Amino acid sequence: MSLSTPPPLFKRYQTPSSSTDITQQVLSTLTDLGLESNPIHFSVLYEWVIQCDPFLSNEIEQALTEQHYSDQTAEIFYMDLIAQFLGLHIPSEEVEHLLNGLQSRLDDWQNTTQNQSKAIKKGMAQLLSSPMPEQSKHTLSRQLLPLIQAILANTAQLQKAVGASSFEIRRLKQALKEAHALSRVDELTKLANRKGFNETLNLMAQEALQLQASFAFIMLDIDYFKKINDAFGHPTGDSTLRYIAKLIKSEIKGKDFAARIGGEEFAILLPKTTYQNALQVADNIRLNIASKSLKVKTHQSALSFSVSGGVAMYQMNEPIDRLISRADQALYLAKNSGRNRIKGEGSL
Ligand code: GH3
Ligand code: MG
Ligand code: MG
Repeated sequence: MSLSTPPPLFKRYQTPSSSTDITQQVLSTLTDLGLESNPIHFSVLYEWVIQCDPFLSNEIEQALTEQHYSDQTAEIFYMDLIAQFLGLHIPSEEVEHLLNGLQSRLDDWQNTTQNQSKAIKKGMAQLLSSPMPEQSKHTLSRQLLPLIQAILANTAQLQKAVGASSFEIRRLKQALKEAHALSRVDELTKLANRKGFNETLNLMAQEALQLQASFAFIMLDIDYFKKINDAFGHPTGDSTLRYIAKLIKSEIKGKDFAARIGGEEFAILLPKTTYQNALQVADNIRLNIASKSLKVKTHQSALSFSVSGGVAMYQMNEPIDRLISRADQALYLAKNSGRNRIKGEGSL
């Protein structure tokens, strides 16, 4: 079966005419795949049909065609969807600002009405116990008092409802905070993703300027990674990425920061680190990876891997792109010099 032509089962509707059509296609695909109709699969396959994000939709189609669409891959797509939704469609800072405003207004309202209710009750009690003409007392107790009590009862009911909304807003804010953090994490390796990396890189550049202390940037790329996917399948490729990420993590510490910034590319930021030390850290990672191997069920001998890397130092005030470009060029040099090696910008 040619990979470029998906089997008819996974053909998208070219122009889905209604949401019922889309839902129908999603549900029948779920049935064909023998998957349960949970919100994750539903959302992912819905995205596949409507192609809101053509790149993601094609990735999903590829997973379906190559038959590695599963609960696990669906979750990765799902996180991608959520991350994009949060990152692109609603700026989370704005939502948080809105929620904060709403919550403080509700809190203010609750406090004010509670105090007012107390003051009214106290005032009424004082009024009723003080001497006054019989006619006024009658008007007060027969007409005004029931009216005020009804208003107080309504307010108390409203306060309860607002209390519940306030609780819901707090819960929403917490969920937003968690989703915000999640949208910066690479679901596969649990390292930061490209978005998290960009944020940290910019913060580190600001901090370096304030402290007048530079930081180092290492870019690593797994050698001949395509062969792993081709020979052992995508799930083994994914598992390898997790394994390499863990080995990278074990070689860094403290405020060092690691991210997966592309398919099989990793970035490491080392604050307050010299060029020589950064070269050493990069080489330690390389040696650690080269000296270990990964056992795969379907293969007799354990698999060995190597990485190539480029190292560059941040120069105060330079555009971030330039730093990335130097590390990239050094990585390119390492690849062209035979792979399984680290090159620094000094060799460019
Ligand atoms: P080089 O030594 O020149 O870096 O060769 P390479 O094969 O590592 O590089 P190439 O860019 O040709 O291939 C990278 C491969 O990484 C292709 C793609 O299928 C695979 N890949 C990218 N992202 C993922 C992923 O999330 N999971 C898996 N399993 N594979 C991935
Ligand atoms: Mg690469
Ligand atoms: Mg590679």
